[in-house]
Amino acid sequence: MSDCIFCKVVRGEIPANKRYETDTILAFDDIQPQGPVHVLVIPKRHIPNVTMLANESPSLSQDLMNAIASIASSTGICDNGFRVVANTGDDGGQTVHHLHFHLIGGRSMTWPPG
Ligand code: 5GP
Ligand code: ZN
Repeated sequence: MSDCIFCKVVRGEIPANKRYETDTILAFDDIQPQGPVHVLVIPKRHIPNVTMLANESPSLSQDLMNAIASIASSTGICDNGFRVVANTGDDGGQTVHHLHFHLIGGRSMTWPPG
């Protein structure tokens, strides 16, 4: 989508600190990190949210989970643990309507979230 921020990151029109990239997936640091590690993992193709992801090929979901596992390992947060969040819709607090998983780690977190 032409006016989507994350599509612009994929096209290289907005700079980002890339952490992981394949044909289908891109991951980059969040511009406002909520922890020592805060990476956004997205499909390169514009998919609005997790509900729409369910309509896609299962291989894309697998690609996203493989990316999360790989980045958790490469950033050194696997052993202590981390959080994966996909805010969805207004009540979920989604502000960018291009599917993204927040991968946050490097500190101890509380539950429930706000
Ligand atoms: P949401 O609120 O939709 O779950 O998460 C959107 C995330 O995108 C936020 O954590 C926000 O900091 C991040 N973000 C918004 N604009 C940009 C940008 O231009 N570059 C990067 N790297 N992150 C962004
Ligand atoms: Zn997009």
